[in-house]
Amino acid sequence: MPSATSFLNHVDALKVLADYSRPDGLSVTELMDSRVHGGLTYNDFLLLPGKIDFPANQVVAESRITRNVVLKTPFMSSPMDTVTEGSMAIAMALLGGIGVIHHNQSSENQAAMVRTVKRHENGFISDPVVLSPINTVEDVLDIKARLGFGGIPITDTSVCGGKLVGIVTARDIQFRDPPTPLADVGVTLLEANAILRDSKKGKLPIVDASGHLISLLARSDLLKNQTYPLASKNPLTKQLYAAAAIGTRPADRARLALLVAAGLDIVVVDSGQGNSVFQIDMIHWIKRTFPTLEVIAGNVVTRAQAAALIAAGADGLRVGMGSGSICITQEVMAVGRPQATAVFAVAEFANRFGVPVIADGGIGNVGHIVKALALGAGAVMMGGLLAGTEEAPGEYFYHEGKRVKTYRGMGSLEAMEHGNGGVGKGKREQWENAATARYFSESSAVKVAQGVSGDVQDKGSMRAFLPYLYAGVQHSLQDIGVRSITELREGVKAGSVRFELRTASAQVEGGVHGLNSYKKRLFTT
Ligand code: IMP
Repeated sequence: MPSATSFLNHVDALKVLADYSRPDGLSVTELMDSRVHGGLTYNDFLLLPGKIDFPANQVVAESRITRNVVLKTPFMSSPMDTVTEGSMAIAMALLGGIGVIHHNQSSENQAAMVRTVKRHENGFISDPVVLSPINTVEDVLDIKARLGFGGIPITDTSVCGGKLVGIVTARDIQFRDPPTPLADVGVTLLEANAILRDSKKGKLPIVDASGHLISLLARSDLLKNQTYPLASKNPLTKQLYAAAAIGTRPADRARLALLVAAGLDIVVVDSGQGNSVFQIDMIHWIKRTFPTLEVIAGNVVTRAQAAALIAAGADGLRVGMGSGSICITQEVMAVGRPQATAVFAVAEFANRFGVPVIADGGIGNVGHIVKALALGAGAVMMGGLLAGTEEAPGEYFYHEGKRVKTYRGMGSLEAMEHGNGGVGKGKREQWENAATARYFSESSAVKVAQGVSGDVQDKGSMRAFLPYLYAGVQHSLQDIGVRSITELREGVKAGSVRFELRTASAQVEGGVHGLNSYKKRLFTT
């Protein structure tokens, strides 16, 4: 044993630390030197802990996902037909992220979903759905089924701007025959005012001095503002942000026009390999035709691909090729790039132009999200992690005793068979859908799958799951010792946030090991 006097004095610990020529671990550029370490995935490295001097719930997870859109959380859901339709897009936006509505469906259906997102929460609804006294109970039922609400103002002309003559609510039409005209059931204005005053709920029509309807105020929307403080809203209209995907075929131009008419804020040009003349032409056309629409282009994994799309005018880039949980692209095509390396390479380049990148695919847990952000991503896009929630499309079923939902790649044969041409059309139209177009295979005689179809376990509601991801990111950043995603990125750039490579045995050590059996419960609310 050395004598106590052979030790350095403990009060000098910080001074001695400063004498070391380099801090623990690796800088991000040392970590990501692929000539030394090869291409890395999220599991191949860890971040080193820093110093905690603040509570986790003060960590700010705000992040820029396109040139002009900043969200309070860096979460996006994939444009896949088993992940994002209207319900998922609404849940994502209310909880601080954005869901990208898939395009493996008719453009009319997709536009209707965009509309439900835009109408979901409003300060004032300046373009409310309006009926006239000669409309029927059936019309209200139809609106309720399509758009999810049943409180509708009645004007003499059946448009906003007409004279307000009444209001019909879901309660008024209960037990009424569908052909009954609304003149016979609608509450008159006097009655409506009394109901609003007494019950303190419902819809408040706003009229001008001469009684013409100018907008509608929904009390439930006022409540939602308190329940969802992180909600992703367009700062000008106060409506939820809506995002949707399109392909690069000529027909996608008409599709986009419909989506924009429905209120679209962000379009994702969806392709497995983004660096194509088709995508570049499409971006040019979108920028000319809809100059205020934010365009996320992709997918890319190299600087050269990114440069082509940035030069064309992309406002954001989706990064990932072959990293998705349902993906067999790397296996079948021999093309792609390990995701951590791809995110770092593209983000380092794109961020210099103010173009954020979205780390798309391979996100399996909170740790992967934080690693993607540390490598420079502005957001992560998740498919498999969010499939299986209540808000994902599809019904639950049981598989080997577990409650599951279907989750499939857009390049799986199952998705390719089920696009907008899937039902009741000839063989050729059947294959001409969003899924085949994503992989440029609509004209090939033999369809080569780039994805699989399977199922994922029930994850409950997004209303519990997304707050778990958010709290998890806050705790992780607290461990790293940074108070925000911005501080994380600055720390990584300056070399103060450090990394360590994980060997194969380190990865085993970092997982649960040595137990006879265990239960993995991830969170409780
Ligand atoms: P996950 O979050 O790991 O499940 O990956 C989802 C991502 O995989 C999507 O956002 C797409 O970029 C990508 N993807 C979707 N379908 C396919 C496919 O069939 N093959 C390859 N990649 C796919």
